[in-house]
Amino acid sequence: MKEEILKLIRLQAIDSEIAGFDHTIAKHQAGIASREQAIAEKQEAITQFRTKIELLNQKQAETKAEHDDAGARVKDRQNKMMQVQTSREHQALLKEIEENKRLVKETEDRILQFIEQIEQLEQEVAALENLCAGEQQLLAEEVENVDKEIQRIEEAKKSVLGRREAESAALQGPHLKRYTMLLAKRDGLAVVAVNGSVCQGCYMALPPQQVIEVRKAEKFNLCPTCQRILYYKEDEEVQVES
Ligand SMILES: [Zn+2]
Repeated sequence: MKEEILKLIRLQAIDSEIAGFDHTIAKHQAGIASREQAIAEKQEAITQFRTKIELLNQKQAETKAEHDDAGARVKDRQNKMMQVQTSREHQALLKEIEENKRLVKETEDRILQFIEQIEQLEQEVAALENLCAGEQQLLAEEVENVDKEIQRIEEAKKSVLGRREAESAALQGPHLKRYTMLLAKRDGLAVVAVNGSVCQGCYMALPPQQVIEVRKAEKFNLCPTCQRILYYKEDEEVQVES
């Protein structure tokens, strides 16, 4: 039985190593995804700014038409002034000229405001585009590095998987089955050390009698709390990663 437990300890070390590889790969991929997300957010902001610019251009064109119409009316009424006969007509035309001159001035101010807003937005778009271009270049380099790194990890993982195959084939069927089930149910950790009298899987204390049995290793001992397979780890005994 002691031999079977030692095999399980080795298998657990291998599986923890594989899980470490997978974790590192996932971390690299998450890093890339978050950089892609940051770029996508900036591109979305650029699109929104462009929509605003389009709208302001449209408003500016409408205001320009209003401005030209008012200017034309000023000229038209000024020409009519030459032909008026009554002071009443004269007054009415003067009033219209004043009103339209005011409109010319007012539309001019609005156009200037639109131009200013458009310029500001265009500057923001240019800055964001610049930022995006830089980030995209860095991302391309990072993707290349990460791809290489993942390839390297996959290679290392392949050799560990080879060792795993040999190790698991050496185990008795029911033991492997129990181990595999625990590994899936207990977050990748099926075989754990007892340190002092504490299970290193769930950190609960074991009854003293069970600690003695785990030390003897004459049968499989399961943690009463987390059901993991237990082994006793002497302080200066075999070094096992877990
Ligand atoms: Zn436990």
